[in-house]
Amino acid sequence: MSPPRPHFLVLTFPLQGHIAPALRLARRLLAAAPDVLVTFSTAEAAHSLMFPAKSTEHGGDDPRLEFRPFSDGTEAGDSRSSDDDGDAGSLTTKMASFHAAGARGVAGLLDALAARGRPVTRVVYTLLLPWAAGVARERGVPSALYWIQPAAVFAIYHHYFNGHAAGVVAEHRHDPSFVVEIPGLAPQTIGDLPSFLTDSTDPSDALHSIFTTIRDLIESLDKERPRATVLVNTCQELEAGALAAMGAHDVLPVGPVLPSGDEEAAGIFEHDDARYMEWLDTQPASSVVYVSFGSLSTMAREQLDELLRGLEESGRPYLCVVRKDIKAALGEAEAAEMVGERRLRNGVAVEWCDQVRVLSHAAVGCFVTHCGWNSVLESVASGVPMACVPGMSDQRVNAQLVVRDWRAGVRARVDGGGVLRAAEVRRCVDEVMGDSEAAAEVRRMAGEWKRAVAEAIGKGGSSERNLVAFVDGARSDF
Ligand code: UDP
Repeated sequence: MSPPRPHFLVLTFPLQGHIAPALRLARRLLAAAPDVLVTFSTAEAAHSLMFPAKSTEHGGDDPRLEFRPFSDGTEAGDSRSSDDDGDAGSLTTKMASFHAAGARGVAGLLDALAARGRPVTRVVYTLLLPWAAGVARERGVPSALYWIQPAAVFAIYHHYFNGHAAGVVAEHRHDPSFVVEIPGLAPQTIGDLPSFLTDSTDPSDALHSIFTTIRDLIESLDKERPRATVLVNTCQELEAGALAAMGAHDVLPVGPVLPSGDEEAAGIFEHDDARYMEWLDTQPASSVVYVSFGSLSTMAREQLDELLRGLEESGRPYLCVVRKDIKAALGEAEAAEMVGERRLRNGVAVEWCDQVRVLSHAAVGCFVTHCGWNSVLESVASGVPMACVPGMSDQRVNAQLVVRDWRAGVRARVDGGGVLRAAEVRRCVDEVMGDSEAAAEVRRMAGEWKRAVAEAIGKGGSSERNLVAFVDGARSDF
């Protein structure tokens, strides 16, 4: 009997920032060898936002890719909903129910695929699914974690949950300037650690269940024999030191994992029509400021007002994403006034764009970003220097990498109330796009990193070799 074809079940938490890199990895796995099969699976609510037509199970252009949702116990609703913010109890209940139902759902999916004669030979799962490895193990299927944040963030969590920093962080969590030593990393201040370690360690904290989920994930890796495999969406060139500090796992940097062409339309947001691309075509090279704070961040009226004022005052053309849900929270009339043509003299606002296409457009010269890891990698890969405005989760670490380690951007400072003021927007844009020597150096470094990253993911590059080795290794699983 011939061995089964390598078949990867790629599982992901139902958020845009998780779905995008997971889907990109799915495509990369398919590209690595002609006999590879992939089933891509996220929770039902997000799946139906990705495929409103309901019937999609195949990857369109590639019959080797199938999309099969898993049940997480909630069949309806917006998977982006943040209606639990501020209420630790209900988010904890929701996450507990997601974990229990999700584990059952994925077990059922593995069984159904095996019964159909399409057995899974490797489960690949993103963060926030700490049960995935166990579900796979029970069925004798090996698994790999796909870490979609920087290696530095993994290293911090790894050491934190292995006894190195716990006491220090607990004791000094309200002193952002306190310096923490994490083995293998440069000293960090508490204020630059992932926010879940500073703001979510107490059971009464709003996002405590995310903290416990990450803890469970890190601990689950120790149960893997002989060692856990961790694919990381980064590359050796960007994070050599941090990759070495990730603990005794089989660590394979395979990134930046980016879309390889036009194939990635799928996501849980509706795209604006592409007039903004035509507008970009009319702008001079490297003249446009692109602004986006990702798929989750909220923005109050005051913040949006300061941001847009700063952009107008910068005197440069800009393209700014103001998501539909942010506009809805402002109210229709207010939103129309804030981002209407009367207000935006020098720029364009969209509700959602194709960010990878925007960043690769020659007109874009600066990215004002919240430093979500996908956004950072997309910017680095396009050689666009950044003005970093980190918020929660890993974003402060990511901003450190951009500004301190790669010198490909500048850090914006918010005021005491957490508001990014117009003058600061102007200052940062100028420090990236202006005539000073420092600005020229930031732009030069962004160009250097673009080249380094292109090499890593190109034929024979460090990340490409790791991905091929992972796919080849998966053949010896059976
Ligand atoms: N994105 C997009 N269009 C937009 C805004 C964002 O396609 O108008 C994409 C962006 O390219 C990235 C993802 O949304 O892949 C956001 O992920 P990230 O990790 O940067 O931040 P998160 O949304 O998870 O905070």
